[in-house]
Amino acid sequence: MKHKLLSGNAILGMTAAAMIGAVAPQAAIAERTKNLILMIGDGMGPQQIGLLELYAREAPDSKYNGNPTAITKFSDEGILGFSLTNPHDALVVDSACSASHLALGIDAPLEAVGIDANGDPYETILEMAQRLGKSTGLVSDTRITHATPAAFAAHQPHRSLENEIAVDMLGVGPDVMLSGGLRYFVPASVNDKGDAYEALKERTGGGFRLSSKRKDERNLLEEAENLDYTVVHTLNQMNDAQDDGKLLGLFANSAMMDGIAYSRSANEPGREQPSLREMTMKALDILSQDEDGFFLMVEAGQIDWASHNNDPGTLLHELLRFDEAIEYVYEWVQGRDDTVVVVTADHETGGFGFSYSIADLHEPTELPGSVYAGRSFDRNFDYARKEILSKLYKQSDDWFGLWLGFLRKDKADQTPENLMELVNSHSEFKIDLEDAKAIMAKQPNPYFSEGHVFAGQETLPKIADYQAFYMVTLGTHAALISRQMADQTNITWATGGHTHTPVNVIAWGPEETIDPFSGALHHVEVGALMKDIISGE
Ligand code: MG
Ligand code: ZN
Repeated sequence: MKHKLLSGNAILGMTAAAMIGAVAPQAAIAERTKNLILMIGDGMGPQQIGLLELYAREAPDSKYNGNPTAITKFSDEGILGFSLTNPHDALVVDSACSASHLALGIDAPLEAVGIDANGDPYETILEMAQRLGKSTGLVSDTRITHATPAAFAAHQPHRSLENEIAVDMLGVGPDVMLSGGLRYFVPASVNDKGDAYEALKERTGGGFRLSSKRKDERNLLEEAENLDYTVVHTLNQMNDAQDDGKLLGLFANSAMMDGIAYSRSANEPGREQPSLREMTMKALDILSQDEDGFFLMVEAGQIDWASHNNDPGTLLHELLRFDEAIEYVYEWVQGRDDTVVVVTADHETGGFGFSYSIADLHEPTELPGSVYAGRSFDRNFDYARKEILSKLYKQSDDWFGLWLGFLRKDKADQTPENLMELVNSHSEFKIDLEDAKAIMAKQPNPYFSEGHVFAGQETLPKIADYQAFYMVTLGTHAALISRQMADQTNITWATGGHTHTPVNVIAWGPEETIDPFSGALHHVEVGALMKDIISGE
C-alpha cells in the first residue's frame, strides 16, 4: 500500500503553526482524523428512517429485542444536521447529481456524474484522498457503475453511460470496489454464448446470469487484473482475497439481490453473494492497512428502488440491511479518534408515510383517569396499529420482482385470479379480485413523447392521480399493489419519484471535526465539509 508521512496540506499547516508558535487546530485535526467513512442510504429520507425506528422500537416481534438501531447509536453519540439536496437550477434532485454534490462539494448538473456545473471534470473526494496518499473504496448493493458510486470515480455527462463509467472507474482505480454490474465489464461477444461466455462462466463460477451491455470487445476484468486488482465474484473469493492488495468484486450481472431476498438467504449455508455488511467489513480490512488513512463510501442503494416501487415491505428489509452494515461500522470505530463517519441520504424517494384513516375504526374504550369519568375514550381515526410493522416484515417477495414473475407466466395465466393468489401468498395484507384488476389496468399515456426513454410509452399503468409522477411501467404496477393494500397498511405514497424533503446528516467522530455538520445545511456544503476533513483544511 501507499505510505506518505504527511500530506502537503498538513505540512503547510504545521509550518504555519510553528511560525506563530501555537498549535494549529487544522493540523491537529488532519493528523488525528485520517479516515472518512461516508454511508449513503439512497432515497432514505427522515420518513424512511422513521420506518426503521418504528419497526425497531414498536414491532411486536422486532428483531432488535429492545436494542437501538445503529442509526440511533450514531445519532445519539454524534451530531445531527438536516440538509437540502436540490440542484442550483431545480427543486428536486436525482441520485447522480446529489452524489456529485457530496463527492465534489460544488454545484453539479442533473443526471451527470463527477462534473461541475459547466460540464468539466472536477476532482472528487475519492480522487483527492488518492492524491493525498490515502486508500479509497466504493461499496454498493446496486451495481458499481450506478449513479451513486459512479459520482465518486467517474466523470461523464450522463449517468446512463455505464460502459464509459466502468472504464473511468478502472482509470481512477479505487483500491476497493465491491458491488454488482458485471455486464459493463465484459466483452459484447459474451452475448453470443460462445467462447467468451464459457470463459466468463468459468471465471465467475456460474452462480448468476451472464450477459454484456458493452458495444466493444474490451474485457475490463482482465484490464483490472493488469492493474493489479484481484477480481472476485463470490463471498468466499472475496473473503479469501489478500488484505494488502486492490480488490474488484462484481457479484451480480446487474443489481445485487434485494433486501427481502437477502433476508431470506442471509443464514443459508453456501450463499454466494456477500451482504452489504460483509462487503463493508472486507473494505475496512483492506483500507485500514494504509497508515495514511482512507476514504470509503458505502451505499445502500435499494432503499431508493423499493421506494420508487412504493413497496413498504421491501423498503423495511432494505433499511434493515443498511442498518446491519452501519452496525459493523459502529463497532469498528469504537475507541478510535482517527475516523469520521457520515451517514446521510441523497434525497427522499416516494413521499412515503404512515397516516391515519377512516378505513378501520376503533371501538371506544375506557380510560381510568378523572377526565374520562362518564366519558369513553374515543378517536375519530385509525392511527395505524403496531401489528402492521410485523406484517410488513413478513412480506416474502418484492412487488417489482413479483410483477416481473407474473409477466413471465404464459399469457393465458396472466389473470386477475392468479395475480391475487400470487400477491396474497407473499403478504399478510390481502387483495381481492377487484384489487388485482386495478393493479393490471392500463390507460393511454397523456404525456406521450415519441422516442423518450420514459414518456415514449403509449400506455401506462392506470393510476388514479399523479400519472406524470409514475413513469416506470414495471415499478408502477408494483406501486399499485401497495395502493390496493393501503387501507390495511395505513401507508400512503406521494410519487414514484423523488421529493425535495431535506435529509438527515449524522456525523460521528472527533467533536471539533463534526461540529460543522450540525444545523441547516445543503449537500454541496456537506460535500465541501467532507473534503475539508480529507484534506485537513
Ligand atoms: Mg444510488
Ligand atoms: Zn431514485
